[in-house]
Amino acid sequence: MSEPDPHRTAALRSHIRESAGELRGIGLEIDRDPEAIDRWLHLPVVDIMRKATVPVEYLERPLRIDGHTYDMSSCLEHSIAIEELSYGDAGFMLACPGPLMSGVAVAALGDDKQRQAYYERVAAPGSTWTFFGLTEPEKGSAAAELETALTPDGDGFRLNGAKRYVGNAAFAQLGVVFCRRAPGPLGIEAVLLDTTAPGLRAELIPTVGLRGARISAIRFEDVRVEREQILGYETLKPSRRGLVGAIRTLQRFRPVLAGTALGLVRAVLDHVREERPGLTGTDRLRLEELVDALAALRHRNYEVAAAIDAGRTGADRIAGVKTRAAELAERSTLAAAELLGPGALLADPLLDKLYRDARAFEFMEGTGHIQRLAVFQGVLKGTFLR
Ligand SMILES: Cc1cc2nc3c(=O)[nH]c(=O)nc-3n(C[C@H](O)[C@H](O)[C@H](O)COP(=O)(O)OP(=O)(O)OC[C@H]3O[C@@H](n4cnc5c(N)ncnc54)[C@H](O)[C@@H]3O)c2cc1C
Repeated sequence: MSEPDPHRTAALRSHIRESAGELRGIGLEIDRDPEAIDRWLHLPVVDIMRKATVPVEYLERPLRIDGHTYDMSSCLEHSIAIEELSYGDAGFMLACPGPLMSGVAVAALGDDKQRQAYYERVAAPGSTWTFFGLTEPEKGSAAAELETALTPDGDGFRLNGAKRYVGNAAFAQLGVVFCRRAPGPLGIEAVLLDTTAPGLRAELIPTVGLRGARISAIRFEDVRVEREQILGYETLKPSRRGLVGAIRTLQRFRPVLAGTALGLVRAVLDHVREERPGLTGTDRLRLEELVDALAALRHRNYEVAAAIDAGRTGADRIAGVKTRAAELAERSTLAAAELLGPGALLADPLLDKLYRDARAFEFMEGTGHIQRLAVFQGVLKGTFLR
């Protein structure tokens, strides 16, 4: 896509906004019991999540709105769709089946056969959850130093190690695991794994916020991996495989994650307006300042996402919108708790939930410190402010 088509984006936004309206109450249910997603798989938004992230060639009936056809190929449209779903409920959206991040990794690295096998599975009727396994117990931010080991075994490999904080892994049928075949950043591979593989065990990690993300711990003990499971093994040089795919996936997903945070910000600010329509003085100014900050950051996020679609943007700007969106989510929920008055966090279940959920964005897809390092590299090179 070269320049964004405003009719396409407007049609997508209003269609999803309408469908996401019903998610608030269900989000509270999923917060109490993340497995409750199973009771809501018939909702149109679940189908939208699947159709919005599977390439059209694998779908019998792609997502069509007002004569336009949509899939995950546009970062801008993906970010808008996710922002609207997150305005409904971010936890619900993350608990949905579908490709999410692993799909972007398969699209970036997989050969035709791997892409076809993966997408035919996630596009098939029924519900297939996937995971994207990068973070390790000892190596979170320093992902290039990951230790999960892929060692030769006959004509294939064995996988040993552990992952932590991986969304949906305990419920998924398949996913992508980043692992080390050789020393150094270029020794990393991405392998496609079925969760029924002997030696793979995943369990849910109890969390306080964004419980719909269902983050999980995974252990691999001598899991057999065939060469065909290594993404891009036949078609890409080792230096263009694992880590390159991880970085491309994270960068492509950061505006989408920023959209998730900004959807939550809009939800919390609208909630304050509904609950306190008569705010005056400094309280009103404080709310208006946050509404303005949201509008400016949404605009910036769309610019960054559109630039990714046009192949024009760098890591510094992507990092900038991600970290500012996470910060705004924290600032808005703190302000909302104060503006709604003493006891609001105890008496208002939606505020309590949004307040807890907002804390997760700081960590997802790299902490603020890591994003700021990328921003400052851009400032030093002169690319950030250009
Ligand atoms: C809701 C949620 C969903 C997630 N989903 C996934 C998923 O699907 N797949 C996946 O692989 N991971 C996932 N994660 C994990 C996430 O990517 C990690 O939490 C994140 O990368 C940080 O790693 P860590 O928690 O190990 O923190 P650490 O890397 O241990 O960092 C701890 C602290 O040290 C700081 N720090 C670390 N290195 C530096 C540095 N070089 N300079 C300055 N400060 C530094 C960090 O900013 C942080 O404050 C998820 C996390 C959450 C909260």
